[in-house]
Amino acid sequence: MRIITRGDEPAELAVVGSLHADEREGAEAINRLIPQLSVSRPTKFLVVTDSQQDTPGRESDPDLNRVFGKSGDTAVHEIAEEVLDEVGDCRVLDLHTTEATDEPFAILQQITDTKRELAAITGVDRVVDASELDDGLVAQVEGVAVECGLKHDGPDVNDASVETACKVTRRFLAANDATDGEQVRSDPTVYRIYDTISRPATEGELVIRVENFERVETGEEWLETDGKRRVASESFCPVLLSPSGYDDKLGYKAERVGALSEYRGE
Ligand SMILES: [Zn+2]
Repeated sequence: MRIITRGDEPAELAVVGSLHADEREGAEAINRLIPQLSVSRPTKFLVVTDSQQDTPGRESDPDLNRVFGKSGDTAVHEIAEEVLDEVGDCRVLDLHTTEATDEPFAILQQITDTKRELAAITGVDRVVDASELDDGLVAQVEGVAVECGLKHDGPDVNDASVETACKVTRRFLAANDATDGEQVRSDPTVYRIYDTISRPATEGELVIRVENFERVETGEEWLETDGKRRVASESFCPVLLSPSGYDDKLGYKAERVGALSEYRGE
């Protein structure tokens, strides 16, 4: 874990990058921004993993972002505790990248007014309420996670996603009066996760025929495994859906519930 602080302790704001070791874009965004930023509020930048070989990657068992606030005695639980010790009292921006979609979106858990505000000032068009999962960093802190676009497959970075991560970080710092950069505000559409999409048992090819966030209707052909098409048994909006993002699932089912400004959580 690498920590860069600006201003006096205790830090009031925190930017977290590469909590998942296979997502290098967050760390790269922090590396690029540090020499450029003049920050006037105490701020901590936390690069949780410093290379793709670091544990915990998303392949780590358990996934680091699924153990926050959970008891356990693995090395991964220890890292989660260290991260919380560092940023637990801060407003947090947690930068991620994904295999699911190149469109940036925010993720909230256990929604509060501050978290709603933090999602709005990232300027994204969509926010996922993942309170159902209850185990990520942003469930434990006043913070927002942002999926900044596609992750690069391998040790390099996806440059477009790094640029998005830099842009979102600048907006987060400006809106929290840490820099005098440009402030934006959006009223994103909320998608509430209510179920997991399990991974069908197949060794063969798996082709997803629908787009993330676009509603799949009952009876619609949405997945092909081993050349066989599968139809949806209920309507849902797919979120974080990709053929290879997770070992145990394809992604999540969500319902579209309207504008964040009208939403108070379930
Ligand atoms: Zn991630």
